[in-house]
Amino acid sequence: MKRILPFLAAALLLAAGCAGEEKPSVKTVFAMDTVMELTAYGNKAEAALSSVEKEIFRIDAALDRRDSGEAAAVNENGGGKVSDETAGLIKRAVEISRSTGGAFDITVAPVVDLWGFYDKAYRVPSEQEIAAALEKVGYENISVDGGEVKLKPGSRIDLGGIAKGYASERAAELLRENGVSSGIVSLGGNVMAVGSRLDGKPWRVAVQNPDGGEYAGVVEVRDMAVVTSGDYQRFFEKDGKRYHHIIDPETGFPADSGLRSVTVVCSSGVLADGLSTALFVMGLDRGAQYWRENGGFEAIFIADGGEIYITAGLENSFSGNEYKLIEK
Ligand code: AMP
Ligand code: MG
Repeated sequence: MKRILPFLAAALLLAAGCAGEEKPSVKTVFAMDTVMELTAYGNKAEAALSSVEKEIFRIDAALDRRDSGEAAAVNENGGGKVSDETAGLIKRAVEISRSTGGAFDITVAPVVDLWGFYDKAYRVPSEQEIAAALEKVGYENISVDGGEVKLKPGSRIDLGGIAKGYASERAAELLRENGVSSGIVSLGGNVMAVGSRLDGKPWRVAVQNPDGGEYAGVVEVRDMAVVTSGDYQRFFEKDGKRYHHIIDPETGFPADSGLRSVTVVCSSGVLADGLSTALFVMGLDRGAQYWRENGGFEAIFIADGGEIYITAGLENSFSGNEYKLIEK
């Protein structure tokens, strides 16, 4: 909790401080294990935010791998019939896996569980345990045919790497459908801007400094997702060493790629969320190369030493600490 709040505060401060006379409607929601802050302007904002809140709770329950969620049923039964929504999301997840060479992989679930990131019973597993869990990891182990999902025996899925991004997409859709043309939601590190600020200027989203304190920079966006994956968002310490929640599916260990955080800016919440996780695993050089080859998004990388690297498309929308530009 404590680790999430400074970012929210920063994001909000920037979002709210500059919107002219009118006061926004604001709602705080606790879901998907994080604090979410929903902000919208206009006389339809209150009702729209209530719909968004309901939708977030619905998605949380549907995608959860606890209890009655569809992911839970898939994991329990090694597959089965799921809603079009869940099938569609799993397909999108597999596409991101394919395109990132498996740096993003929702079958990482058995490894996530070993480290205790799922049930918060944190521990450092043995090499043998990791090797055994890794045998079940691989996006090729998932097949989706219509609404029918099949998993290779022993494989399990974890949609935690894109669930918030998906919820942010749905939040934006619902705000628009409910007549809101200016709003912003921050779902624990996943920000989605709808339209621009009331004064027509872009929304300003803070990029957290991994060490806390002042934010590292601000990115200005309209109708965009801004999603950060960082090693400070969820972690535990054992014998003076930090272990964070973003797992490298190659090694089964928390990704040690020389980065503290990756922020992805693009119009799709799901893609931004999947890619922020994937680029974190890839590290700066592979991540920059991926951007050059694929495009369709921009990114801010913060390295272990605090250095900031931004892709060329953000040059006019990022301001803050000194940075290096990643060119095409
Ligand atoms: P995010 O906070 O979006 O970077 O996603 C991290 C969450 O996704 C973790 O808490 C795990 O549940 C899951 N996860 C961890 N590593 C990966 C990975 N390499 N690919 C897909 N999901 C992952
Ligand atoms: Mg993610």
